[in-house]
Amino acid sequence: MNVADSERMAGLLKKIGYTLTEDADRADLILINTCCVRATAEDKVLGQIGRFKSLKRENPSLILGVAGCMAQKEGENLIKRAPHIDFVLGTGQSSEVARVVRSIELERKHFIDISNVSGQWKVESGQGSGSSSQCFPLRGGQVSTFVPIMYGCNNFCTYCIVPYVRGRERSRKPEEIFDEVKQAVAEGFKEITLLGQNVNSYSGGMTFAELLTAVDKIDGVERLRFMTSHPKDLSDELITAIAGGKNICEHIHLPVQYGSDKILKRMNRVYTVEKYLKLVEKIRKAIPDVSLTTDLIVGFPGETEQDFLETLDFLRAVKFDAAFTFIYSKRSGTPAATFDNQIDDETKHRRLEELMKVQNAISLEKNLALVDLVVEVLVEGASKTDDKIFTGRTRSNKLILFEHGNEQAGELVNVKISQAQTWLLKGNVIK
Ligand code: SF4
Repeated sequence: MNVADSERMAGLLKKIGYTLTEDADRADLILINTCCVRATAEDKVLGQIGRFKSLKRENPSLILGVAGCMAQKEGENLIKRAPHIDFVLGTGQSSEVARVVRSIELERKHFIDISNVSGQWKVESGQGSGSSSQCFPLRGGQVSTFVPIMYGCNNFCTYCIVPYVRGRERSRKPEEIFDEVKQAVAEGFKEITLLGQNVNSYSGGMTFAELLTAVDKIDGVERLRFMTSHPKDLSDELITAIAGGKNICEHIHLPVQYGSDKILKRMNRVYTVEKYLKLVEKIRKAIPDVSLTTDLIVGFPGETEQDFLETLDFLRAVKFDAAFTFIYSKRSGTPAATFDNQIDDETKHRRLEELMKVQNAISLEKNLALVDLVVEVLVEGASKTDDKIFTGRTRSNKLILFEHGNEQAGELVNVKISQAQTWLLKGNVIK
C-alpha cells in the first residue's frame, strides 16, 4: 500500500516539476513515506530523519517531508523531535502533497496536517479531461504494478495499528479502478495486483468477486492478482471467480496469523482454526493448483508453549506454499499493547526460529513436487547478480530463475522446472 501511495505522490510531484533521483545527497526534496505496522519500521525512519539532518545543514533549501502511517500516528511529535522536518502529512492528506510542497517553496514554515485520517485520494486516474485533480502515478518496475481498490480497515485486530492510522474502509468506484487498470496496461504493465487492506470486503457498488471478474476481462491484463484477504470475508463467490477466471492467478495470500483458537480470539480474528481449515479445503477443491501463502505472528501476549505447538501442528496440517513470519511487535494505542503476559524476547526469537524451520521444510517439499513440470512464467528481467540469468514468476507467484535466451521482460514463456529450493525454483525455457 505504501509503494502504491508513494507512486501516486511521485506522480503529483512530477506535475509540479520534480523528478525521481536515486541520490538523496543531491535531492531538492526528500519525502519519507512511512510505515508503523512494526517498531523496526519506525526505528528505520527515525534513523533516516537523523541522517538527513546534515544534508539539510549543507543545503538549507532542501525540503524534508514525512508522510504515511507514522506521520499520521506521531504528527507534531515528529517535528518537535526533529525540527529540520518541513512537513508532516497524514495518510488522508497524501493527495495534497504537491500543494503542500509548493507552499513550503514559497514560505518556509512547518506544516502539519493529520486531520483527516479517512481522507480519500481526491485524484482521479485515467485518460480524462486533464483537470488539475488528475494524477498519473509514477509507477516503478516495468511488468507488474499495483492498483489500490480500497483504503483503510474496519477489523481492529488487537495487535494492529492500521485502522487507527489508515481509517475506516473506503472503496473506490469501479469505473475509476477500470480506468486506472487500462492506464497501467497502456503503459506496458502485464500484471495487475488489486490492492487493499482487506480486498474482499470491497464495497464500491459491486462485490469484490464481480470487480475481479470485470478487471479480468480488460484487454491486456495478462495476469491478475489481489491482496490481502481476510479469511472471514473470502466468499464462495470469490473462490468461483478465481476458479473460472481467465488470467486470475491461482494464488491466495490468506493471513491466518495464528494456529490456536485461544490466541485467534485474543487477536480478534473472528474465525477458528477449524473454520480456516474448512476454507482451505474448499479453496483447494475448487482450485486444485492453488498456491496458498500466509502471515504468522509469534510471541503474541499470553502465548503458551501449548499454543505454539498447536500452531506448528496447524502449519503441518495446512502445508502453505510459503509463510511470512513475524515476531509480535507491541504497538502503543492497540489493545494488545496493554495485555498481560507479554512474551520475553528470547522466547519470541526461539519460537520464530522453530516456526521458520517447520515452514521452510514444508515450502521445500511443495517446491520439490514441482520439479519436471512445465509452468507459465512472466519474465521480469535480468537477475541482480548475473545478467545471463533471468527471473520471473509463476502464476502461483513463485520466483523462478532460468538461463536467458531471447526472452524479454513482460513476455510469458514456458519453463520446465529442474531444481527446487525453499524460496525459489530454477528451470529452462521450453521453446
Ligand atoms: S485485517 Fe489486517 S489491516 Fe485490518 S486490523 Fe486486522 S491485521 Fe490490521
